Amino acid sequence: MADPINSAELLKLVQEKQIIAIQRIENKAVKAATEKRFKAIDDAIGSATSNWVKAFGSMSADGTGAPLTDMIRAALSSSNSALKGLEGSVIGALTEAVGAAVTTAQAQGAAFVEGASGKAAAKRVAVPAVSLKEERAAVKAAAADGLKESRALLRKPVVERLGLRGILGGLRRARNALSRAKSTITTSVNENVTKTMRATATANKAKYEVWVAERDACVNCLKYAGQIVKKGEDWTGGQSWDPNQVDKNAPGVRPPLHPHCRCRPVPWDPAWAKPGEVSLPEAISREAERSVARGFSLASESNASRVRALKELLSGSPSLPKTVLERAQRDLRRGEFARGRAVP
Ligand SMILES: [Zn+2]
Repeated sequence: MADPINSAELLKLVQEKQIIAIQRIENKAVKAATEKRFKAIDDAIGSATSNWVKAFGSMSADGTGAPLTDMIRAALSSSNSALKGLEGSVIGALTEAVGAAVTTAQAQGAAFVEGASGKAAAKRVAVPAVSLKEERAAVKAAAADGLKESRALLRKPVVERLGLRGILGGLRRARNALSRAKSTITTSVNENVTKTMRATATANKAKYEVWVAERDACVNCLKYAGQIVKKGEDWTGGQSWDPNQVDKNAPGVRPPLHPHCRCRPVPWDPAWAKPGEVSLPEAISREAERSVARGFSLASESNASRVRALKELLSGSPSLPKTVLERAQRDLRRGEFARGRAVP
């Protein structure tokens, strides 16, 4: 028998330990399937630029003759080799990663249930069968699009007209296909974690699921953090702390909400809450409010969006400590987060 642990520790377990463990599995697969390919394309982009300047004098100069033909050939060969066999590499890496993620998520689900309920977790969890059919089709389509688009640009008449931009554009189309493959990997891993968590809720007869977000989650995911649904149901779609991103007509959602989203649902039963203590869902939503107040986010998210989210938060009645609230009000007046947006 396990002892129940308090909400703060439970949240720490889910967010810091469990989400990070899955992230490691994800990163390993992304690295195995795409790292060398990304490097080859980035090297090709670098050398195309320097070769162009060497051959034609400057980046904006027109390219002509045999040197141009050679450069197009080199770019085509780089884009072909970066995308060659991509489907096999991704599916190979994903097969291993999804297997590891599901096994890990099962153990994580059991540890969570024991920590939350103080009781032994169900031994048998009916984990859904893994199929990588959609992933295979998605990567195949990404590679085909990348090849088609880069071949369309890497032609003599096009490059004669566009100059170096044409060559770089062709290489970047191949790079975009790699980015799509990368998103497929991270989404697939997290979808399978989410499915395992839902099965964990079923096995443990939990009636509800609660949304857990990362500390540096985006303003949309942070809005869901701490929200409860009946087990297996969708959360209301289109929610966001940023009013500009709210979509009232959006269909229901479950995590992952977007590529590279590591949010997860965990089983929840109101009977697990301890009288007089902050419950886990409350702890999650308080922490999400704190993330909005502090501007914790990835660099990819715009400052404007985080400031709008902060304004929205402060227009309600957030349960923030006084010092956090005062700093947030100052930040809102200045329109930026004085201490930066990175999670400490
Ligand atoms: Zn998320």
